Amino acid sequence: MKVVLQNLTKKFPNRNKREKSEVIAVNDFTFEIPDGMLIGLLGPSGCGKSTTLNLLSGLQKPTDGRIFFGDMDVTDLPAEHRGVGLVFQNYALYPHLTVRQNITFPLENLKGKEKLTKAQMLEKALEVAKLVQIDELMDRKPGELSGGQQQRVAIARALVKMPKILLLDEPLSNLDARLRLQTREELRRIQKETGITTIFVTHDQEEAMSISDMIVVMKDGVVQQIGKPQEVYDNPANLFVAKFLGTPPINVFEGRVTDGKLYIGEEMICPVTNRAATMGDDNAEICGKAAIVGDMSDKEVYVGIRPEDFILKEDGVLTCDLNRVEVMGRDISVVCSHKACESGTIRAIIGSENIKRVGDVQVKFDVKPDELVLFDKVTGERV
Ligand code: ADP
Ligand code: MG
Repeated sequence: MKVVLQNLTKKFPNRNKREKSEVIAVNDFTFEIPDGMLIGLLGPSGCGKSTTLNLLSGLQKPTDGRIFFGDMDVTDLPAEHRGVGLVFQNYALYPHLTVRQNITFPLENLKGKEKLTKAQMLEKALEVAKLVQIDELMDRKPGELSGGQQQRVAIARALVKMPKILLLDEPLSNLDARLRLQTREELRRIQKETGITTIFVTHDQEEAMSISDMIVVMKDGVVQQIGKPQEVYDNPANLFVAKFLGTPPINVFEGRVTDGKLYIGEEMICPVTNRAATMGDDNAEICGKAAIVGDMSDKEVYVGIRPEDFILKEDGVLTCDLNRVEVMGRDISVVCSHKACESGTIRAIIGSENIKRVGDVQVKFDVKPDELVLFDKVTGERV
């Protein structure tokens, strides 16, 4: 089912009673989620992710804006009538009930023509248990399950009523690293098999990027960017998004555009070219040779370079001081510094076959010009 968020806003009175100002947990969020998609809602702690989910589930009422499921306005519909399945970080299973009883629990209270017989309930429970692969654990109590298995039970319980929408709030945070990896793939599989429109909240960018059809990056209640994971990674709308996505993180340098050329410190890196000029057929001249911008005028900028976009080269355009080399197997990570680099250390990831070519004191790089992302020094917006 398609989900529409229309100018959705949620304000809270400040938790600090002496503060008069309100907290705007979600600020004017507008987005149409296509049917059947898995959306990763991503951002640092406190940016408004859980509040957004609570508004969608009906646990909280928006201060402003509307919510539609399909064409139906559900803004004033109570949570229990929205047909939403919810999964939380802490599983929230009933400890004294078996897995089977936990899963059938949401079905027990169905009334009127929705009411099910015992046999129907058990059949539905078994169906979802099979889907999340816990059908052999039906007689156990939650205490007898691993964290990963408990989370599967919670997912099965959320799915048993065949919700129109599935909402997951940091569902993998309590799992150890390996289980997290495995369970996130499971989640993707389950979502694909059921086709249920799913919104998945996480503060872990890698988690969101790896399984989502689209990601929504939030900061301080405000949506920063919405797009396919690769698009957002390659074309961040602002410095915040650029820094939030990617491990190791993007390297940020202070630079400037002067007379159509990009400088980092005193080093001329490459020409800049207007985005429009790269669109036509006869752009072979420019492609791969210039940084692409929307505004060519002279200005101070931040230059973002992804670790994988450095090329080791003896007469490279950027000279860095070498700190150390970290071997990571297939790749090596060249850790170095440059006085124009904002964070102090730079990480360049290059193929391990190049290890002998890294100097002892200084290391020179070329960069892939069309992969560079430039941000306005004042606003942090993409130039
Ligand atoms: P996230 O899930 O991204 O960590 P939340 O949606 O929980 O963020 O919170 C967003 C902001 O709203 C935070 O600043 C939080 O302190 C505030 N907030 C959330 N719930 C309440 C509440 N019930 N009362 C007051 N402030 C709240
Ligand atoms: Mg939260």
